[in-house]
Order: sequence, then structure tokens, then C-alpha cells
Amino acid sequence: MKLANVAGRATIVLSEKSGADVERASAGRFGPDLASVYRAWDDFTGWAASATWEEDVEFTPQDLAPPSPSPAQIFAIGLNYEEHARETGYDAPVDLPPIFTKFASSLTGPAGTIDLPEGNVDWEVEVVAVIGKTAHRIDSADAWDHVAGITVGQDLSERVRQFKGQAPQFGLAKSFPKFAPTGPWLVTTDELQDRDDLALGCSIDGTVVQDGRTSNLIVDIPHGIAALSEVVTLMPGDLVFTGTPDGVGLGMTPPRFLKSGETLHTWVEGVGTMTHVFR
Ligand code: ZN
Repeated sequence: MKLANVAGRATIVLSEKSGADVERASAGRFGPDLASVYRAWDDFTGWAASATWEEDVEFTPQDLAPPSPSPAQIFAIGLNYEEHARETGYDAPVDLPPIFTKFASSLTGPAGTIDLPEGNVDWEVEVVAVIGKTAHRIDSADAWDHVAGITVGQDLSERVRQFKGQAPQFGLAKSFPKFAPTGPWLVTTDELQDRDDLALGCSIDGTVVQDGRTSNLIVDIPHGIAALSEVVTLMPGDLVFTGTPDGVGLGMTPPRFLKSGETLHTWVEGVGTMTHVFR
């Protein structure tokens, strides 16, 4: 199933531009908002397995909001692909890669315009896992069962602020308004050919800059979620940005960053594409 946030309402996606409103289809049992659907995820998917619905919603990319618009927590895993760690001047992590947060006010949907703050704004395509079941101290073998689905994410990063000072400022430098685009919708993992080997990438004005596969993750998605859950309690609707492959602007010679007027397309195989213009 694909689940979109159409102007705040949970919507089962039936085509690139149409779907079924969850609250109406379930006669009020689920929805209307996305957060309540994640809180009832097992009941919701159980209902959806045998329910029928009508196509009653039309949308454009601009109508779509983040698939999980109000997560209690947003986690991000840094340096989680070997080539990306190298291009940014680090050794590949041997233990758990660095974990940081993007603050929730930086969330935005899969299409639109993003203002460039002062500094050097870089791109990072990532697969984002949306948690569907409370998880604390879970085993990696059970981790996918705690995931509602995945979506496409961009971990936009302002590199001057990130590296100035005594220790890296990951959280702040990656949390300007709209620095956490996600979408276009959530896809449940049963729809994916291989949830552990997904192609992901992004392009600037049509030139591909990142092109990776999640099979190259140092800590794969289930082990990453299990590792987070050793410490924190993951809650329905929480987001996990799982890491970016090589090809970021910081790693180029010379470094290259986003400029006003440029268009960034960001995609994950089996999920979809986001489109953002910078100014
Ligand atoms: Zn990242």
C-alpha cells in the first residue's frame, strides 16, 4: 500500500494523482490525520487487507504534505555508506555510525520551493523509515515488523554551520526550514521487490549527482533501528533517515553547493520522486 498525506488527510494512493480518503473509506474508524493512522498501524493494515474503497481524492504533488507530519522524534544516521564517509574526510565507522536529529520544524513535503540560508547548502538523498510500532530493545530480526513503511528523504545540510566550532553541529545545520523534505508518500515494504536493496539517488537540473543502493549501507535499516532501540523508545510515526551514499557537494573537487534557481530531484526505487526548487 501507498499512503499519502493529502492536505493533512491520510489517503490511500491509487494512482500518481488520485486516491481514497482513509477516514471516509473506514467510516471514521481511522484518520483523518496520518499520526492517528500510525498509532493504530496494526489495526489499520488489518482493516486495509480486506476493505474496499472508492477513488474520491485527486491531488497534485503540491498538495502532498510529509507522510509523517508530526513525528515525536526524527533520527538520522551519519556516515553510513563507506564511500560517503571517505568523501567527507572520515574513516568508515567500525562501530555504530554517528546518530543525530533533524528538528521537526524542518519537515516539508515532496514538492515546492526551499529558501537557501547563508552558507553552503548540500544535498543528501536518503531512504527514510517510518516507525509503525513502539520499539524498545528490539532485535534486528524483528525490526522490519516495527516499520510502517519507507519514504524518500533529503537530509539538506548547511556545511559552514555544520563544521564551524569545536564539534560538528549536525542537528542545527540540518534543520533550517524545509531542510527535511519527505515524500511523495509512504510505501509499505511488502510492495518493494527487495526492501534491503533499494536504489536511491538525486539530480540537479537533470545531472545525476548521487546514485546508490541501500545494500551498501554499513549498518542496514533493521540493524540501525535495532541499535537506536537499544537506547531510545521508538514511537509510531517517528522517522529514521538511514544515511546518504557518496556524491554530496562537499565531496566534489572543488566542492559544489546548491544555487538559487536550481531544481533538485530526489528518488528511491519503488517509492517515487520529490522535486524542489531553491531560491
Ligand atoms: Zn544524512
